[in-house]
Amino acid sequence: MAKRVAIYPGSFDPPTNGHLNLVKRGTQIFDQVIVAVAESTSKRYLFTTEERVKLWKQLLKGAPGVKVETFSGLLVNYVESKNSNVILRGLRNVTDFEYEIQMASTNHTLNSRIETVFMMTEGIYSHLSSTLIKEIVMLGGSVKGMVPPLVERELKKRLVRKPSARNKTKQ
Ligand code: ADP
Repeated sequence: MAKRVAIYPGSFDPPTNGHLNLVKRGTQIFDQVIVAVAESTSKRYLFTTEERVKLWKQLLKGAPGVKVETFSGLLVNYVESKNSNVILRGLRNVTDFEYEIQMASTNHTLNSRIETVFMMTEGIYSHLSSTLIKEIVMLGGSVKGMVPPLVERELKKRLVRKPSARNKTKQ
């Protein structure tokens, strides 16, 4: 029987515990899940493509049934090049649904062999978004439990400003 491969595409800037949960659940349904990190284009990312791939690889630590790759250009073309016909996406809320339904229909129009499969986000992760997480870190808050410790460390390195000697107020 042919291997069932699902492509899980996204920006993952950075990967969150919600993303990780989805991959884990995906591997229980598909023989292989390929995490497809979108290459930086016009969108401005905090982490470069290479950094986002590295983060994923460290988080997955060679877990069976998962692979991390990058993609650029039309997603449907990338999916076909991987001998897959499934795009895996997560749904957190109605806002996600409205955007996703448009994407799924467009991709199906571009290539009718390809289906988008949605998984509902597990409750505790449904409020997590990479954007919000970056904002929390920037404002000095803790994102413990929202992202793996490795991701939190990398976020702090980039977003938390250490007071420089020059800016210190004179006593
Ligand atoms: P994109 O830029 O493609 O929206 P994201 O990195 O934000 O990429 O998300 C990639 C995928 O992960 C999307 O299907 C999104 O719905 C899903 N996702 C985002 N946040 C969560 C979460 N907290 N739990 C589960 N899935 C999520």
